[in-house]
Amino acid sequence: LIVEDEKRMASLLLDGLRDQGLAAEVCGRGDEALELLRMGGFDAAVLDIMLPGRDGISITKELRAWGNQVPILMVSALGSVDERVAGIEAGADDYLAKPFSVKELAARLKALGRRSLKMPQQTGEHMLSLADLTLDLHRREARRGGERLNLSARETLLLEVLLRHTGHICGRRLLLEEVWEYHFDQGSNLVDVFIRRLRQKLDIGHELKLLHTVRGADYVLQEGAP
Ligand code: CA
Repeated sequence: LIVEDEKRMASLLLDGLRDQGLAAEVCGRGDEALELLRMGGFDAAVLDIMLPGRDGISITKELRAWGNQVPILMVSALGSVDERVAGIEAGADDYLAKPFSVKELAARLKALGRRSLKMPQQTGEHMLSLADLTLDLHRREARRGGERLNLSARETLLLEVLLRHTGHICGRRLLLEEVWEYHFDQGSNLVDVFIRRLRQKLDIGHELKLLHTVRGADYVLQEGAP
């Protein structure tokens, strides 16, 4: 789904992606795009940030809050670092600054499609899963190999955030914001402490490790070493 309100740009992208062998549809309004993506059926979304009806960042946040994992590639004319970070932190998978070549867009979309195969499978509307790990979002109950994990509410939320980003590196800042709603890093080792505790409950006694540390301070949940 191409979500773009500038008609010329939209038809350029539509034709270009078709030339690259990708079927696409255009939607020019943010609120309508949210409804379409929510209903499913798209392999990926190319999402402009400035849109009538609803902006691209809030669309992404809303979809991710619902557990919708459609791969999102955000595009914007501004292309500042802050905006890129805001897009990725909202849950977008990739970002391109305008102007970009349709060829590059197509290549990135194909890469996203491949990556999405490794995203957590949606086993029903309220379940997230990875390997033999499941999280029931309604009951707030996590299980590994069928055995219930004894997690606190905060640990469950941390696990949910990690599961929603399966295969993607989660930095301290993202975790502090999404799990604790801290919009700054106050320099404590809060995240490290919780990760350690979660890892003990999740991975100890299991041959297949799911929660990994990357570069000493970032984390990723996935099958096998990063
Ligand atoms: Ca726009």
